[in-house]
Amino acid sequence: MTLDGTKFVNWIRRANRRIQENKDYLSELDRAIGDGDHGINMARGFAEAAQRLTGSADQDLGALCQQVAMALLSKVGGASGPLFGTAFLKMAGVWKGKDHASVHELSLALREAVNGIKMRGKAELGDKTMVDVWEPVSRFVAEKAEHLSWRELCVFAEEQMDKTKPLQAKKGRAAYLGPRSSGHLDPGAVSSFFLFEALCETME
Ligand code: ADP
Ligand code: MG
Ligand code: MG
Repeated sequence: MTLDGTKFVNWIRRANRRIQENKDYLSELDRAIGDGDHGINMARGFAEAAQRLTGSADQDLGALCQQVAMALLSKVGGASGPLFGTAFLKMAGVWKGKDHASVHELSLALREAVNGIKMRGKAELGDKTMVDVWEPVSRFVAEKAEHLSWRELCVFAEEQMDKTKPLQAKKGRAAYLGPRSSGHLDPGAVSSFFLFEALCETME
């Protein structure tokens, strides 16, 4: 149940594949309530992150997270780049010098990541953003601790993603649409789900 460098690299590579496969879908979601570039943004960032990690599995988790953060910060345009970048930077801080992370240590890293995303983007739970997946997922991991089932976490993350559909956006571009943002999934919640789905598949 521990995350090590090899699993971390597999996680990011799997997340990258999922994002590349769903690049058009993510942009289509963003066309409905944003500017239609979320798939392009994420695909560019995760391709770079996966590429930078090639041959790096022997590095500690902090260094690996740092590389992902830098790739996302430099390659993802738009609001999501700094937010996902901050999430991985915060996780890098928690995992500095660590070769392994237990589920407890994963929950600590996710908690910091959520704090970072919220501090940077000023969004709260229910604002129809990626926070609506990150925050409940982080809590779920902390609450389940060593009893965590990766399959359950994946189902839970998907449910949180689905719950963004009826919400009215309060942050990001979609907020400009007011009530018209309701009835669409939040693109960043969907890409966040792909990230956690990839983690669950890597860990189970
Ligand atoms: P942009 O809106 O600049 O084109 P993207 O399309 O890549 O950037 O990302 C949009 C996603 O970013 C949204 O679906 C939402 O999940 C997330 N997002 C936008 N603003 C915020 C914010 N202030 N806090 C948290 N997440 C946000
Ligand atoms: Mg966009
Ligand atoms: Mg944009």
